[in-house]
Amino acid sequence: MLSNELDVLRAEIEEMNLKILDLLNQRGEVVQKIGRIKEMQGVKRFDPVRERRLLDLIAENNDGPFETSTLQHIFKNIFKASLELQEEDNRKALLVSRKRKPDNTVINIKGELIGDGNPNFVMGPCAVESYEQVRLVAKAIKDQGLTLMRGGAFKPRTSPYDFQGLGFEGLKILRQVANEFNLAVVSEILNPNDLELALDYVDVIQIGARNMQNFDLLKAAGSVNKPVLLKRGLSATIEEFMYAAEYIIAKGNDQIILCERGIRTYERATRNTLDITAVPILKQETHLPVMVDVTHSTGRKDLLFPAAQAALAIGADGVMAEVHPDPAVALSDSAQQMDIPEFNDFMQKIKSTRLVHS
Ligand code: PEP
Ligand code: MN
Repeated sequence: MLSNELDVLRAEIEEMNLKILDLLNQRGEVVQKIGRIKEMQGVKRFDPVRERRLLDLIAENNDGPFETSTLQHIFKNIFKASLELQEEDNRKALLVSRKRKPDNTVINIKGELIGDGNPNFVMGPCAVESYEQVRLVAKAIKDQGLTLMRGGAFKPRTSPYDFQGLGFEGLKILRQVANEFNLAVVSEILNPNDLELALDYVDVIQIGARNMQNFDLLKAAGSVNKPVLLKRGLSATIEEFMYAAEYIIAKGNDQIILCERGIRTYERATRNTLDITAVPILKQETHLPVMVDVTHSTGRKDLLFPAAQAALAIGADGVMAEVHPDPAVALSDSAQQMDIPEFNDFMQKIKSTRLVHS
């Protein structure tokens, strides 16, 4: 008799669970509708005043037997899950997201495939200073069997009194040397008005950390048919980084490489703090290739190799680092650039760790 009663009560519980389940999902659908309205109105999703009112309502209406605090705890979890549902919905909509495109985007730069599972290396001086300087680096890059050469012609300097770069003269040097060695040019463009003309000289447009949220530049880069290497802003969250890439893809250009280059924290041991887990997060959340700039993130030559190793081990598609024939006399970032023997040593160590097939 008693066991029969237990079965009946258990059946009642199961039925109630299904009703709760149904109600929770109905609630979820309403939450999604609210999320879309808030998105259109540009209103923040989390509203603490409203959440407090909902918790008070539970206290006012609770007849037991559960403690109010217990119920409020359960409802807080429901609120949290609802917020996540809204955020997930929003991410789903992004063109850069893996939800939107499950397959990796692979970018072909002069036959070099970025994002195909084999690591790539973008090497070269911080700034273009002369034909001879670029030529020496280009030769070293070629000797290592690499294809992608970086070099800044337009330099975003903290101080207006520091070397600002050679501008178009610098781009011409890069192109000339790259043609000589059959390399591809990666170079930063600062001004949307320079973009059109720069297309004659560069193979990849770099958008630097300081310009990650220069929306006019992002839109302009989105409107051309050239790969873009977008660097993470100095204090940008991963979400802001993804939205910056979204500006580019939304204009039609899906050839985007994301580049983690360290973020600003209280830590002073390194120039910036390399956010290494940003790599797998970006790989999971987006379909775009992800690189790590080990020079600007660490600012320390002794950390270039371990940081590169970590980057490749955690899934980065490539590594960027600065190389200068004579770093001591470099016009920018003199302390952190490798000289050519150091660069050869760096590549040798990378190859011998078998992270790269030599
Ligand atoms: C650069 O790569 O030349 C550069 C200036 O880096 P960032 O924009 O990451 O500071
Ligand atoms: Mn630099």
